[in-house]
Amino acid sequence: MYKEKLEKNIECGSFPGQIPVNYVYTLGIAGDEFFRTIRDKGYFIASKCSCGKKYIPAQMYCDECFGECKEYVKVGTEGELYSYTECYYDYRGNKYDEPHLLGLVKFRDCEGGIIHRLKINKDEIRIGMKVEAVFKPQKQRTGSVEDILYFKKK
Ligand SMILES: [Zn+2]
Repeated sequence: MYKEKLEKNIECGSFPGQIPVNYVYTLGIAGDEFFRTIRDKGYFIASKCSCGKKYIPAQMYCDECFGECKEYVKVGTEGELYSYTECYYDYRGNKYDEPHLLGLVKFRDCEGGIIHRLKINKDEIRIGMKVEAVFKPQKQRTGSVEDILYFKKK
């Protein structure tokens, strides 16, 4: 057991090694509705609180007033590029043949957003540009974030 008490964060020790982590992420009621709508209908929904706040991805409770978000509203497939980055390696550390673009897409009058792949020419990309989600064909969708292939220029 590790019982040493540290007073300063610069005194922290490190233990080189790897910890394999496997996990299952449960979507919850609102997340389930969000991804089921993508799978079955091919568009995004937001959850809406009685205070008026809307959240995408859909969530059960309001960050603003802590009320329950009991309503779902159609958002569609179009959003606005809020931020983006260029990635050279995948999450396992393998180098891509060419850099991938990832972006945070925000949706009109909604809190939150979706971080996903972008398929936009680098010389055309700009913060604030209109983007549109491209989904897998309906028969191939499984109700996961991978049902979204990428966002393209609108
Ligand atoms: Zn609220």
